[in-house]
Amino acid sequence: MFSKWFGNKSASSSTPNNSKADGSKASSSAASASKKSSAKKTNPKRAKKSKKPVWSLDQFPIPEKEGSTRFHDLDLPLPMMHAIADLGFEYCSPIQAAVLPHTLDGLDAVGKAQTGTGKTAAFLITAICDLLANPISDERYTAEPRVVVIAPTRELVMQIAKDAEDLTKHTDLHVEMLIGGVDYAGQLKRVQRNVVDIVVATPGRLIDFMTRGDLQLGLVEIMVIDEADRMLDMGFIPQVRRVVRACPPKDQRQTLLFSATFTEDVIRLTEQWTIDPVRIEMEPDRVAADTVDQKVYMVGAKDKFQVLKNILKSDNVSSAIVFANRRDQTRWLFDKLNKTSITCGMLSGEVAQQKRTSTLKRFKDGNIKVLVATDVAGRGIHINGISHVINYNLPEDPEDYVHRIGRTGRAGETGTSISLACEDDAFMLLDIEALLGEKLACEQPPLEYMDES
Ligand code: AMP
Repeated sequence: MFSKWFGNKSASSSTPNNSKADGSKASSSAASASKKSSAKKTNPKRAKKSKKPVWSLDQFPIPEKEGSTRFHDLDLPLPMMHAIADLGFEYCSPIQAAVLPHTLDGLDAVGKAQTGTGKTAAFLITAICDLLANPISDERYTAEPRVVVIAPTRELVMQIAKDAEDLTKHTDLHVEMLIGGVDYAGQLKRVQRNVVDIVVATPGRLIDFMTRGDLQLGLVEIMVIDEADRMLDMGFIPQVRRVVRACPPKDQRQTLLFSATFTEDVIRLTEQWTIDPVRIEMEPDRVAADTVDQKVYMVGAKDKFQVLKNILKSDNVSSAIVFANRRDQTRWLFDKLNKTSITCGMLSGEVAQQKRTSTLKRFKDGNIKVLVATDVAGRGIHINGISHVINYNLPEDPEDYVHRIGRTGRAGETGTSISLACEDDAFMLLDIEALLGEKLACEQPPLEYMDES
């Protein structure tokens, strides 16, 4: 299912935390902060310590299971286990089982993995455990995070930050999120209010903070780069390089890098930014194929909308995402569906961030049944229980097909994907099938879906 090959790391770099025992380093960075940054010095012992009833592992009994790794087997600190129990995770996902034993020891890691594999928890658990094992009791500046996570889209950053909040909820660690399209001043206020341990950010907004001296990365111990291939596609690599340069050098930090694909460019970046990383590879089609019933309907371009409408009105569709390749197509579909009494939301680059967030929330809460989205916006959708993914057009990049259909059939559930292939896009099936390593059966849509009523 996945392959791995392990690299060695020197003893010194296997504990990459550059600052925790090293007061002089912390203070030199702090001095630079005092010159340039608007951060203020504060004691990291957070004032509020809630009095929660004591939790013990007895409240989280998980039997051993052959072929599965329990979180219990990884010797994680209790607050971490408590959060994992609250999230209802029982066994490690394959990528977690493969990567955590090494990253918890401080090794760098490079993972080829899509969303849906549990990679976010893999890097967050690594980071949080490290922070818990190496508390800093000296005074620190507020805007000097110890962990920085960068991801290409706002939705993804929001999802990662939410996961980080969930996983740190029984600790004193503090997470902040920096994304563009929303109020800078508000984000700045939050960054300055508390000692920030983990910052999750899009590269652009992070650089805004760095340039204005509102955030210092000189004390970063763990750097996570998520969806590196997407960063490349979106032209963010120069910004990512600046972020990497602002962090301590690679032998003084732990670097975790994830990418859904490994092109030559991505491999080059991993070589520049990591030292002898553990490499984990998940098969790209693993996420999708197992639990998703993939259908391809051959439909004339002029009939596509009719078929889509009838599918969405059918009883077995409880919640669906409709993907289109371009923003204008997404808007057209959104307008047309709303006119036909199918209430839907839209996620695309042209929608303001606040609106995207509220739409996603309404969809998650079940207040709207249908979401139309472009690929970039669709990467932020991490919702279990989506019954259908519909490809209004086939994507030009076959990886996007795998990614799209992976929005359904998550967390052990089954889902259905329906691709509407017409004369304009059916030729793309060949590349998709090559990537999946299987042939997709093309069929005529059932007659009731052709109905014009
Ligand atoms: P990701 O690949 O990080 O997008 O995670 C996909 C989904 O899997 C998220 O909804 C996570 O909450 C969930 N998840 C992550 N790890 C586990 C696990 N060990 N057991 C069950 N669900 C998990």
